[in-house]
Amino acid sequence: MIPVVKTIDEVRKHVKAWRRDGLSIGLVPTMGFLHEGHKSLIDRAVRENDRVVVSDFVNPTQFGPNEDLEAYPRDLDRDAALCDEAGASLIFNPEPEEMYHAPLTTVSVDKITKVLCGKSRPVHFAGVCTVVSKLFNIVTPDRAYFGQKDAQQLCVVRKMVKDLDFDIEIVGCPIVREADGLAKSSRNTYLSPEERKAALCLSRALGKGRKMIDEGERSAAAVKAAIRAEIEREPLARIDYVEAVNMDSFEDAEEAAAPLLAAVAVYIGKTRLIDNFIIE
Ligand code: AMP
Repeated sequence: MIPVVKTIDEVRKHVKAWRRDGLSIGLVPTMGFLHEGHKSLIDRAVRENDRVVVSDFVNPTQFGPNEDLEAYPRDLDRDAALCDEAGASLIFNPEPEEMYHAPLTTVSVDKITKVLCGKSRPVHFAGVCTVVSKLFNIVTPDRAYFGQKDAQQLCVVRKMVKDLDFDIEIVGCPIVREADGLAKSSRNTYLSPEERKAALCLSRALGKGRKMIDEGERSAAAVKAAIRAEIEREPLARIDYVEAVNMDSFEDAEEAAAPLLAAVAVYIGKTRLIDNFIIE
């Protein structure tokens, strides 16, 4: 069975031994409660690296005061079985006290973290960038794997890696969905059966927007309006944002053309879900 380690020192011991043997290392950062979306990242990491570390850590610093830190689902045994079966080499599952000793240092990326999810979650991306930087320093991977499900996070991490000269290749992986279109997420477990049905409005609305662009629509405003209208037809849905931005600058897109990120965040009941599509 795959080793589950709790301390930074133990991770470093494994990494040192692998490096002595000239092995390459992939890192898949997660908050656990793993599903097929995470597994797609782990599978790719296993294909592309000799050893794969999966971090399984519900990082408190990326949650705001009124968010779901306490409620966030956890199941380390199931996660370990999934990682083992996928061929990962090590799970890093620290307690918050192992990661944070009254820190005075944070890593934050400006501008592109102020919009979309950063608007309603002001501390989120500094928490993400800080913990990802720490994981990069602990694991020193050759490659790190992130899902397009969190497209803004992927862009922010890429920018951080470029700005701070981390010698790590960032690999973006496509969104894995349920058969009916709902993007897989650990947070889907919060949904009641009725909300689970309502949650389909995200992928349905984005699908409509994408189809409009495929059929020649050039106005980003028109695409956004159509996405918003489709979500608003669902009584259980409350929109946090519907945006279409240039994927490099994160400024509002006028033209619905590459490089475009169309992204939504929607509350279904109390559960905040996100989804997106990209035109590259
Ligand atoms: P999380 O545990 O939610 O922090 O996610 C860990 C990593 O898995 C992030 O890079 C996510 O973007 C990625 N991920 C989560 N859900 C999916 C999905 N449905 N498809 C692809 N990647 C995903």
